Amino acid sequence: MTGREPKDHPFLVEAIREVPGGVEVRLRLTEPSLRRTSALPGIANRLLEALPGITRHRCESGRPRGVIAEIADTESAHLVEHIALELLARDGFPRTMAGRTDWDFRRDGRLVYRVFLGCEKTEAASDALHEACALFARLTRERAECYSTA
Ligand SMILES: [Zn+2]
Repeated sequence: MTGREPKDHPFLVEAIREVPGGVEVRLRLTEPSLRRTSALPGIANRLLEALPGITRHRCESGRPRGVIAEIADTESAHLVEHIALELLARDGFPRTMAGRTDWDFRRDGRLVYRVFLGCEKTEAASDALHEACALFARLTRERAECYSTA
């Protein structure tokens, strides 16, 4: 279930465990320059082209701004969480499903995140998280291609 990301993926799924109400995934970011989505100009728009349902997400990160502004400038792990939630919604899981991204680099190690998905079907949650990491990798590569001729 874990460790199946190609080596060039920015996020590695290190562990998945069942917790009350869902699953908690440990994600490691291997590319520090991709820590925040603001390092990836246009990523929000490209993501919305792939998954328009994300416009329907609510995000309570403590800042009163829309989800689009939020995903354009947030921790990349938080973006991966929203992608995974949308993939689950697309597969028929309820849109009311909750997610949460926490990090404490002193406790867990640098660039290690804990992503909670309120999905009690562990395999579906795992698949969504892996697919979200793959989509994030693709979005970052698309960005790299944009600049490769510069
Ligand atoms: Zn959020």
